[in-house]
Amino acid sequence: TEGINKIKPEYLRSFLFESRLMLSTWIVVRIDGCHFHRFCEDNGFQKPNDEQALKLMNSCAASLLEMFKDIIFAYGVSDEYSFVLKKDTLLYQRRSREIVSAVVSLFSSMYVMKWKEFFPEKEFKEPPYFDGRSVCYPSSKILRDYLAWRQVDCHINNQYNTCFWLLVKSGKSRTEAQSSLKGTQTQEKNELLAQFGIDYNGLPIIFRMGSSVFRDRDEATGNDRVVVEHCNIIETSFWKEHPRILD
Ligand code: ATP
Ligand code: ATP
Ligand code: MG
Ligand code: MG
Ligand code: MG
Ligand code: MG
Repeated sequence: TEGINKIKPEYLRSFLFESRLMLSTWIVVRIDGCHFHRFCEDNGFQKPNDEQALKLMNSCAASLLEMFKDIIFAYGVSDEYSFVLKKDTLLYQRRSREIVSAVVSLFSSMYVMKWKEFFPEKEFKEPPYFDGRSVCYPSSKILRDYLAWRQVDCHINNQYNTCFWLLVKSGKSRTEAQSSLKGTQTQEKNELLAQFGIDYNGLPIIFRMGSSVFRDRDEATGNDRVVVEHCNIIETSFWKEHPRILD
């Protein structure tokens, strides 16, 4: 229209509400696959755990650490990944929406780019996509509690899913499997696994512990490199052995 040139950009910008994440806190961006229950089924992922799919997630997370130097640690399980940014990061001037959207879109792009490397024989029908959110944690203690919470969740879900799929594969319907596991404690689940000749602690560590991604000194070259490990991050020993991560 005629008057369009008279509109000042500041007027339109004044409607924008910028939310900046609190200074001096660890920012955690957690991404999670959208409708992965269906995505896994469509793509024939192995149940309860498809190792290739987990390795694809890990490889994407490692790329994020390579590309964003301010990401100091990441922890992943199932279709989710938590990225920890250093507490004095000024990435996007700590604007939450920019940080979360950049992490989510880079992760989704990497997932699609790397798919063929992990599933050379598969073509996906629907595009995988992720959502994301950010949370600030004000102390390293609370940040470690957050990460411990995700690892406990990994353990509980993995134990449940391992039992569930054993029952289903032994001929029970999904509903039957669900109801026979309802209200069972760890002990009962371990007994059930034992009946199938399975020692929970003998299952691959990537399934039991999830995956941690961080920078570690390469003794040979003296340079930092991004590593993926499956370690206990609930116990303080990991953090004592890697004091530089949270310094
Ligand atoms: P939402 O969109 O709400 O996140 P969702 O279907 O993605 O829904 P989640 O709670 O995120 O639900 O659960 C992820 C699902 O994907 C679970 O069913 C989980 O078992 C499955 N899944 C994720 N990764 C793997 C994997 N590597 N192997 C097998 N199954 C997986
Ligand atoms: P930032 O990460 O801060 O957004 P940027 O390099 O993406 O940095 P923008 O301000 O978003 O900077 O500008 C987008 C740039 O991409 C401009 O240089 C623009 O000319 C170029 N660009 C975008 N789309 C096209 C296109 N279709 N053809 C040619 N150039 C394009
Ligand atoms: Mg979700
Ligand atoms: Mg999901
Ligand atoms: Mg999930
Ligand atoms: Mg921009």
